[in-house]
Amino acid sequence: MSAIVPTPSYVSGIGPQPLLYRTVGEVLAFAAQHWPERDALVVCHQGLRLTYRELDERVTALARSLLAWGLNPGDRVAIWSPNNSQWILTLFAAARAGLILVNINPAYRTSELQHTLRNVGCRALILAPSYKASDFVSIVRSLLPDGSMLGAGRINCPAFPKLELLVQLGDEPIERFLSFEELQDCGAGVANDRLDALGRELDPDQPINVQFTSGTTGLPKGATLTHFNIVNNGYFVGEGMRFGPEDRVCIPVPLYHCFGMVLGVLAVVTHGSTMVFPSESFEPEAVLRAVAAERCTALYGVPTMFIAELEHPNFREFDLSSLRTGVMAGAPCPIAVMRRVVNEMHMREVTICYGMTETGPVSFQSHVNDPLEKRVSTVGRIHPHLQVKIVDAQGRVVPRGSPGELLTRGYSVMRGYWGDPDRTAEVIDPACWMHTGDLAVLDDEGYCNIVGRVKDMIIRGGENIYPREIEEFLYRHPKVLDVAVVGIFDRRYGEEVCAVIRLREGVTADPDEVRAFCRGQIAHYKVPKYVRFVSEFPLTVSGKVQKYLLREQIEREMGIRREGTA
Ligand code: AMP
Repeated sequence: MSAIVPTPSYVSGIGPQPLLYRTVGEVLAFAAQHWPERDALVVCHQGLRLTYRELDERVTALARSLLAWGLNPGDRVAIWSPNNSQWILTLFAAARAGLILVNINPAYRTSELQHTLRNVGCRALILAPSYKASDFVSIVRSLLPDGSMLGAGRINCPAFPKLELLVQLGDEPIERFLSFEELQDCGAGVANDRLDALGRELDPDQPINVQFTSGTTGLPKGATLTHFNIVNNGYFVGEGMRFGPEDRVCIPVPLYHCFGMVLGVLAVVTHGSTMVFPSESFEPEAVLRAVAAERCTALYGVPTMFIAELEHPNFREFDLSSLRTGVMAGAPCPIAVMRRVVNEMHMREVTICYGMTETGPVSFQSHVNDPLEKRVSTVGRIHPHLQVKIVDAQGRVVPRGSPGELLTRGYSVMRGYWGDPDRTAEVIDPACWMHTGDLAVLDDEGYCNIVGRVKDMIIRGGENIYPREIEEFLYRHPKVLDVAVVGIFDRRYGEEVCAVIRLREGVTADPDEVRAFCRGQIAHYKVPKYVRFVSEFPLTVSGKVQKYLLREQIEREMGIRREGTA
């Protein structure tokens, strides 16, 4: 008798709907035709409300202006701003004009901005004047010498040879910048016919968006996504929650990230639902207020956000009974928090999504029909039209129930990292599988659990942090001989950054000095919360730092215990 053949850890998603072959611009035009008078966009902190017809008109006008200014299809336009209506207008207007939108994280500081603008060769940068403690205008001025800013937003700077236009958001005019309103006004000379003709030439398979993800080897990499990647991923995320024109979705997650832009904007617009932005960046009370005031039916967030909302002192004052569904994603989702979201926030159909920027992002999602137990304890099943396999260190598919690295293939996988075929080839193999670096287990029914990471990455409150990037930065400190950055368990943020440093002979240092060295140069969430000094690291025989031992050692010293996640 032959041996029983185990079921391989391979799943392929089917669904009742075919893939959409539409551009991002067409998706909005479709919504404006079908649901012209329904609310498309509510931005609470700007007191703004637009129907699909109004949003489409404003987007058309801005797309004409971008062309009138001289931008051409394929040019890169960067946006560096927290959430606001201009972000949404820019997203759709750029797409309609065939421009590639480059999302820049508002937490980025000087060195990261410089890298992203140069790496992708942006022709235009649209920026908020400031964000929290960060003065964006000063950062830009520190990179562009005075003589390079020619007035009315025009730039001529050898250090950024491609950059030609700076556009500012905000009410106060800033010397030598073009204001967003001025930009909007320059489209009169471009006829709608030209835009329509251009629209017919755009192809859903063209790249339309670059989203930066941190890298294992230092600087952020630009994941290049096509219309087809993100339109479909957004559409199927919305299908997973049964979105329709009646749904009103509260989006407190950032637009620069795929959670806001794809799971948020595109899932909503492909279904004629309403986007509700409570604030420019996450504020728990603003979220609770927006859900209650706008009668939202869905709410998004990384686990940290839901924890902050549930623990807010005024939580009970808000009527959240309109909520039905939503998404928790971006980091391991604690089972206890999922249960509270179902019971105390009325999100009985809440779903968990798993994915990564490079795959559009979502590849697993629990479905509103899945049993509650599966919905709170797994990341659900494979998304329609995608494939996943789980492999061992030799690349062989493991049997169901065994852990291994999760690989994704299908329509959602990015084109590659912008201008970097070598690093693209490190993650997408010749058979088109994207190697995620996440460790997962598939059960017999196809439900997936994310059990760890092969990649050296920390997730702090939904922000990915690659220790390598911080380590390389800290090596520049004259007192640092060697450094290892690890993620320490934290109940609120999931993980916190800890830099473990070996100092050079004969010098002393304190944690504040190390943190001060980082501030202003790297994003605040990458600045180590904990800094510890040691005389040696636990090493493997081959001399590599054993980070899991180091992390365990520090968590033990600090009296920290990890908790269960989905
Ligand atoms: P990003 O590219 O910023 O979307 O981050 C992707 C990474 O976030 C993945 O590779 C995972 O490590 C992690 N991640 C996303 N969603 C989940 C989830 N539901 N559970 C555990 N980890 C997740």
